[in-house]
Amino acid sequence: MSGRPRKSRTFRGSQLNSSLVGERQPNIDKADTKSYNILPVGLLNRGENVCFFNSVIQLLYPLTSLSTKIQSYSVPNNAVFSLQNLFQAIKNGTNPIKTSTYLLNIGIPDYLFGTQYDSHECLLHLIDIIYPVLDNNCIFKIDMLSSVTCENNGCNNIVESLNSSMALTLNVDESHYQTINNLLDSFMSTQLVPDYRCDRCSSRGHCLKANTIVNTGDVLVIQLSIFKYINGISTKISPYINIDETISFYGNTMSLHGIIYHDGEQTNSGHYTAGVKLNGNWFTVSDALILNGIKLSCTSKTINK
Ligand SMILES: [Zn+2]
Repeated sequence: MSGRPRKSRTFRGSQLNSSLVGERQPNIDKADTKSYNILPVGLLNRGENVCFFNSVIQLLYPLTSLSTKIQSYSVPNNAVFSLQNLFQAIKNGTNPIKTSTYLLNIGIPDYLFGTQYDSHECLLHLIDIIYPVLDNNCIFKIDMLSSVTCENNGCNNIVESLNSSMALTLNVDESHYQTINNLLDSFMSTQLVPDYRCDRCSSRGHCLKANTIVNTGDVLVIQLSIFKYINGISTKISPYINIDETISFYGNTMSLHGIIYHDGEQTNSGHYTAGVKLNGNWFTVSDALILNGIKLSCTSKTINK
C-alpha cells in the first residue's frame, strides 16, 4: 500500500464496517475504455512469472515525482536506464508491453528468471535503484523515533533512537477484524516489555517501548505481514482486514494510491495483481488484463465459515 498526502477527511470506524458487510461491494468489471480517458497500460506475462514485477511497475509508474526523478538521471546505470526505457514505453504505449527484458536488465538480487519473486522485495530494490541515498530527497523516506523507558524502581531513564527506512511493516492478526488505521495505531502504541536490562540503573525489569513516525516523504509504503511460520515453513494467514482509503497519524493524512495483492498460499508461488488509482478511478490490473474497481476487504476464512 502506498499513499500520497492529501487534505481530506478521515475515513474510519463505522463507515468502513459497512463496506465489509456488503453495502459497498467492490465493483469489478472489465474496464470500459469509453468511460475513462486514462487507463493503465497492460504488462505482458507469457509464462515468465513476472507478475510480481508488473504489479510493482503499475504502482510506481503513475507517481509523477518518481517518473521525474528517473528521467533526471543524465548518465544512468544499466538499472536506471532500463527503468527509463520501460517508463517511456508505457508512456508511449497503448498495447500491452513485454516487461521481462527490462526486468532482466535491471538486475534484481537473487532473482532467477522464470521463477516467482517477492513483490515487496522487488519494490524495495527498485526504490533503492532510483534513490540510492535515503535522504530527504527520497519520496519514500520514513523517520521513526523509537523510545525505551525504564520502569525499574522509578528510574524512568529514556533511551531514544531515530531510524530511517523506505517502508513500514505492520503485523496483522488473524483473530479479529482490523483496518490499516487500527494497525498503525497499534504499531505506534506504547507496549510494556518484560526482561529489559537498563544501563542507567543496572537492573532487569519492565520497560515501556514506543515507535513514533515523526516524518514521511510524499509516499508511504506499507507491507502487511500476512505470513507466519509453522514448523519452520512460511504459511499465509487469512486475516479479516479492510484497507482504508485514507489513513491519519499525528495530523498527517494520506490517501491510498495502490495495493499489491498476492493470491496463493506460499511466498514463492501464486499470482500478484495490482490495484491502482488513475485520474480518480480505481483499476485492478492482472498483467495485461485491466478491470474496473479494487478489492478493499479481505475476509477471514475462519470467521466467515
Ligand atoms: Zn533504569
